[in-house]
Amino acid sequence: MHMWTWRPEEIRLNMSTVKEQLIQNLAPDEKQSRCKITVVGVGNVGMACAISILLKGLADELALVDADENKLKGEALDLLHGSLFLSTPKIVFGKDYSVSANSKLVIITAGARMVSGESRLALLQRNVTIMKAIVPGVIQNSPDCKIMIVTNPVDILTYVVWKISGLPVSSVIGSGCNLDSARFRYLIGEKLGVNPSSCHGWVLGEHGDSSVPIWSGVNIAGVTLKSLNPAIGSDSDKEQWKTVHKQVVDGGYEVLNLKGYTSWAIALSVTDIAASILKNLKRVHAVTTLVKGLYGIKEEIFLSIPCVLGQSGITDLVKVNMNTEEEALFKKSCDILWNIQKDLQL
Ligand code: NAD
Repeated sequence: MHMWTWRPEEIRLNMSTVKEQLIQNLAPDEKQSRCKITVVGVGNVGMACAISILLKGLADELALVDADENKLKGEALDLLHGSLFLSTPKIVFGKDYSVSANSKLVIITAGARMVSGESRLALLQRNVTIMKAIVPGVIQNSPDCKIMIVTNPVDILTYVVWKISGLPVSSVIGSGCNLDSARFRYLIGEKLGVNPSSCHGWVLGEHGDSSVPIWSGVNIAGVTLKSLNPAIGSDSDKEQWKTVHKQVVDGGYEVLNLKGYTSWAIALSVTDIAASILKNLKRVHAVTTLVKGLYGIKEEIFLSIPCVLGQSGITDLVKVNMNTEEEALFKKSCDILWNIQKDLQL
């Protein structure tokens, strides 16, 4: 009669898991990520930021937070299923801000959208309430993080987040006119047949409607366009270059009307700012910061000026030599923001 017996390897196979048989652990895993980014808000803008950050490999951990748990889980799983093609080994998500713990940079894209008939101030007030729901959890879990605000109206909300976070002004950055300046450089490049990276020009002030094109400084290879066309940007300019700035202002609305939201350009702009911060690049960006004390401004107004960005956040400001007309437009932009901000209830 055949006696059926266990062979030793069969006994081993039955008692241990595949992982235990396959992997021998040699060292404990690093508990903390070195370069963690959190994106708050997984809407159109937040997810475009997420994919852009992932494709650039900026973070070793990406956390996603949103109040809408189903959407959040759906978006996170969709990204995780692409892990094979990414070089960010950890993607976490949750409604609770504990998932954002130990972030170097937190990008806030969460916000309410305008409903028909709603005033700008009413929308702002709703988004202030949302910031109040978000910022304490962020700070509690990452007390030394840098925060980038993308939610609109971005300039006033940067002020709001600065106030409620208690962070130093250098750590709270609004995405501001980095996008407006990118649109400006793209459009100048289109007119001249030159890549935007070689078209140097700045749009400052409020992100959007009252933004200020600094025509006096626009240059290609150090040649200012104003030296070739002194009327550039003015009504009397025969070439009507001022339409370029009009297109910058209208550009966001045009995309909004055509596809319902904007996402790709803002996400690329946000990722570029994030790279300067996380890699300590010390590049200059038109981002939103406190401008009190500059150009005779007395109020706590936040809008875009050229800022040096590194791992400490905004380390320096560039004092732009605006001409008289540009400075007047810049101050007008400040007045517009202050008129809204002064009635705000925090
Ligand atoms: P969206 O409606 O697609 O997404 C907003 C997300 O925020 C939603 O997923 C929602 O669930 C989430 N959210 C709302 N309240 C929340 C809360 N309390 N906590 C966590 N999550 C919350 O909107 P979108 O198209 O992604 O736009 C987002 C914001 O970005 C808007 O304010 C928009 O105006 C702004 N934006 C700014 C720029 C810029 O240049 N600064 C450019 C484009 C869009």
